[in-house]
Amino acid sequence: MQSDIPVKSDKHGIIGMADRIDADGTFSIIRAAGAMPFGTYSADRMRTACIAFCLEEMTGNEITGGYVEYIPDGVSRFHAVQPRDRRQVIATLHKIRLILKGDLPHQPLNAPCNRCHYKDRCESISGRRLSDLL
Ligand code: SF4
Repeated sequence: MQSDIPVKSDKHGIIGMADRIDADGTFSIIRAAGAMPFGTYSADRMRTACIAFCLEEMTGNEITGGYVEYIPDGVSRFHAVQPRDRRQVIATLHKIRLILKGDLPHQPLNAPCNRCHYKDRCESISGRRLSDLL
């Protein structure tokens, strides 16, 4: 067993840390939060998918998922990485690259704009087309 293992994917341009990798190659991320009654938090699904991308590139093996350990509740839960998790990571990385190039993302519906520090800058963008919403 190894702990705090750096992982990276050149293909996706991401680096990170797997909290633990066991001798059989399964990995775990460790959370200081409580577990949900069922399933896995969205952020944990994303992190699991990112680590799977990295380990697949580093080892050449398919990674089907990883464990999320919720320490306060003593729960260790396997999350099988779903295609939608992988798509969400790729879409998020694409958005981040656009933002780094200077693009401002579109205003999402029901965003918490009233308490946002970027409100003035965000509202200076020209109006949106209906086709953006539909
Ligand atoms: S004002 Fe802030 S919260 Fe609202 S869309 Fe713009 S960046 Fe998002």
